[in-house]
Amino acid sequence: MRYLSTRDTSLQFQAEQTIVQGLSRDGGLFTPESLPVLAGGAIDQLRGMTYQQRAVHIMSMFLDNFSSEELTGYAQKAYEGFDSDAVAPVYSVDGKTHFLELWHGPTCAFKDMALQMLPYLLTASLKKTGENKTACILVATSGDTGKAALEGFKDVPGTKILVFYPKDGVSQIQQLQMTTQEGGNVGVCAVVGNFDDTQTGVKALFSDPELRERLEAKQSFLSSANSINWGRVLPQIPYYVSAYCDLLNRGAVEPGKPFNVCVPTGNFGNILSAYYAKQMGIPISRLICASNSNNVLTDFFRSGSYDKNRRFFTTTSPSMDILISSNLERLLFHLSGGNDAEVRGYMDNLSKTGFYTASQTVKEALSDLFYAGYCDDTVTARRIKEVYEGNGYLIDTHTAVAYDVLEQYRRDSGDNTAAVVVSTASPYKFCDSVLSALGVLDHERGVSIIGQLSDLTGTKAPAPLTALRDKEVRFTQVVEKDDMIRAVNGMLT
Ligand SMILES: *Cc1c(COP(=O)(O)O)cnc(C)c1O
Repeated sequence: MRYLSTRDTSLQFQAEQTIVQGLSRDGGLFTPESLPVLAGGAIDQLRGMTYQQRAVHIMSMFLDNFSSEELTGYAQKAYEGFDSDAVAPVYSVDGKTHFLELWHGPTCAFKDMALQMLPYLLTASLKKTGENKTACILVATSGDTGKAALEGFKDVPGTKILVFYPKDGVSQIQQLQMTTQEGGNVGVCAVVGNFDDTQTGVKALFSDPELRERLEAKQSFLSSANSINWGRVLPQIPYYVSAYCDLLNRGAVEPGKPFNVCVPTGNFGNILSAYYAKQMGIPISRLICASNSNNVLTDFFRSGSYDKNRRFFTTTSPSMDILISSNLERLLFHLSGGNDAEVRGYMDNLSKTGFYTASQTVKEALSDLFYAGYCDDTVTARRIKEVYEGNGYLIDTHTAVAYDVLEQYRRDSGDNTAAVVVSTASPYKFCDSVLSALGVLDHERGVSIIGQLSDLTGTKAPAPLTALRDKEVRFTQVVEKDDMIRAVNGMLT
């Protein structure tokens, strides 16, 4: 399997090379040249497997130079710390609505599904490509990615990781998760500014030639754990395959009969993986893209025009507060028939004017495959309450957005096919908003809020979050947004 840059298909690499490079040097994203298809009978085989075995089966179809034995070892280690043996269990609230819980990993959000796997893929890729410098991973986070990357890379030989987060832009639980991080190769630093400032600062570090030279002299180079890396998208495909197998096994879907998938979307990585699962032969009928008030994707899917020139909202589902969905570029590449010039045109327009309009062909493909919708914070809160009171099932804000958009779809289309709602975070990660949604407005502050949610609902808080109470804060550095190099110098050079 070869991987091509979405902006220049003459740039072609093997998987291990794309995982080491992260982003293509022309700014494009590495994308598989063609998609493997699950052969007849494969599903029957997969139905009898564990999650780890299913992941190995799917990933090996994309990774020519990795053996099944290697991948089996990675899958065992990546998912052993999860607090569910099923790794990604499906919780059915009724005969047609099924929540795919992707938050049983060490940081309680779906980022763990890929970021627990990426370090194994990256270190193996470094070996396979003969790279023996230390990979210095820089991350800008709005909350979930930073912690998941820290947990994934802590004490991984041959790597160091430094995470920047906006000083007042993450939840208190998220901040504590990061500042108490253990490990000898990790660093965490707050930036005075918002997430955009932080992200811009990290991008500037990546293109700083002087920094590159100094790292080179220390046998090091900069690398990324961002969702543009193919090594982050690939480990997300298996859970869609796994959900289908689980639904078949419990008789919720008949073999070969379609089902819908609804994904709370930010950078478009998660729903892109669902698209890949569909192309591989999983009978997903409609891909439902759910947004919060930052509804740039809803407008795009409905009109065919992408316009990021709009007001930015800070919402109760912060991991979806994003106006540039990077992974959409991969979808455009596939739907344009692999037309790199066309994709380059879209992305040039986006960076120059913040706007582009998809071709007629792409527009038609988009409306065949996708439905898109959004809801605001008030509706999000109402859905949390409704699902909790109606089904005794507690969901987080991001998942609630997806649930609402699924209901919008059902109402608009009359299509009541079984649907998988992708549940991307534990409700305990957003205690504040969840308690307010349940009607508790004067809630506690700090870590004790976790106990309050647990007492109120009789649900069990995830152990990694309750453990925060006794953790020592290790990282207190704060830098100005144009002084992030100071943190880098302190740790990496
Ligand atoms: C990152 C994240 C999302 C958005 O996922 P994308 O792959 O960026 O679309 C949704 N919900 C939660 C809880 C997240 O952490």
